[in-house]
Amino acid sequence: MSKRRIFSLAGLMAAGLVMAGANETDLHLRPADDGSDTMIRPQTPISEAARDWRRRRDEALAARPDLGHDPTTMLVKFRAHDLPEWEEAIRGMFESETVETWDLVPGLEHLTCSRDSADAAEVVQRIAGALGIVEYAEPDYLYRLGATPNDTSYGLLWGLNNTGQTVNKDRGTANNDIDANLAWDVTTGSSAVVVGMADSGVRRTHVDLAANIWTNPGEIAGNGVDDDGNGYTDDTWGWDFWNNDNNPDDDNGHGSHTAGTVGAVGNNGTGLTGVCWTVRLVGLKIGSASGSVSSSAGISAVNYCVTKGIKVSNHSWGGSTSSSAFNSAVTSAQAAGHMLVCAAGNSGVSTPFYPASYSQDNILSVAAVDNDGRMASFSNYGATNVDLGAPGVTIYSCSKNSNTSYAYLSGTSMAAPHVTGTAALVWARNPGWTYAQVRSKILSSVKPLSSLAGKTVTGGLLNANNAVR
Ligand code: CA
Repeated sequence: MSKRRIFSLAGLMAAGLVMAGANETDLHLRPADDGSDTMIRPQTPISEAARDWRRRRDEALAARPDLGHDPTTMLVKFRAHDLPEWEEAIRGMFESETVETWDLVPGLEHLTCSRDSADAAEVVQRIAGALGIVEYAEPDYLYRLGATPNDTSYGLLWGLNNTGQTVNKDRGTANNDIDANLAWDVTTGSSAVVVGMADSGVRRTHVDLAANIWTNPGEIAGNGVDDDGNGYTDDTWGWDFWNNDNNPDDDNGHGSHTAGTVGAVGNNGTGLTGVCWTVRLVGLKIGSASGSVSSSAGISAVNYCVTKGIKVSNHSWGGSTSSSAFNSAVTSAQAAGHMLVCAAGNSGVSTPFYPASYSQDNILSVAAVDNDGRMASFSNYGATNVDLGAPGVTIYSCSKNSNTSYAYLSGTSMAAPHVTGTAALVWARNPGWTYAQVRSKILSSVKPLSSLAGKTVTGGLLNANNAVR
């Protein structure tokens, strides 16, 4: 039995590790309950603490829908798990319980806290950062799904093949498109290519989605057992990380639309087609019905993809706040060979937008273009951190409202899945390629567009036909 140590803020202050004069005098650093050096940390999902946390988070968001962070939890990355008692003392400062951890980012913990998480994280960062126990601490930032609903009349998919047709009363200019119809002469996709849709969920019963919905080959549906041992029981079609259940259905509408652009079933005599006629779409629900997304849920989605060997995920969400925790997840995903295709943002600015603006090369950032080849007025841009353009104005795709309904939406959220779908086509054609090869092919095969010159890294519009040849 190892010795038990008593921690106190006063002791840390005496050691010169904490600046005096702050408001920490009401905090309590507590020793670990068990002084053992081999404490077992709970793993995802942790039911009691997590359930209670989600309830408190939802109450906070209901009261203040514009919150930039979940005030009830923070993300803390412990530098090394060789100081368990000190780590437990840090958790004790705000009576924290661990609600989840991720294999993807060792040391990262999602912790409840008894004070607003922005304040708590700042204190933890200052104290534990100085002690070398913590790499970073931050609140669980909140982001938004990004799209502007248009109307719901029927029309044509100008983004895939633009003949100058009038779409939703807007006449286009021919050939401002991604030449998907020509790419389909080479490949229409493959059921072996799996795409993670990190979004509001997917209406998996939609007639244009059902046949392309992924089923987890490692899981026996409905047997109440975590057959594949990934921490999620009966994750047959993916997971709802926002509500922590196995039903990643779409209660917002955004996710069914982006899923349809990637992979609405082609050549099935109904509705429309995605960039891929055939693909497998994984519902990774990371957002609420009202469109809030959390950093922690996003990390969970990427973690899920990496542990299941899924090579690409679509991220049509974001915000202006950079998260160290999500950044860690991107770096780990990069090492694991996973690529994230991200919406560049809908604020019409060149200031950073995350996750699109993280600097790792497994991030692709996508601006939105209209059917005349203009960059959308709402689209974010950036000569160094927005990679390319793709169709993102008046995009017609699946609606969550019924199994046979469709809708127009506009946004860089609609542009990103055109790139994700094209990446899936490239992987269908070249199954052994790394993300770096797929990325390089997509970026080197864009069609130059004057509206994107100087506004994006490539200065061009996605071209699926060039990418698959
Ligand atoms: Ca499972």
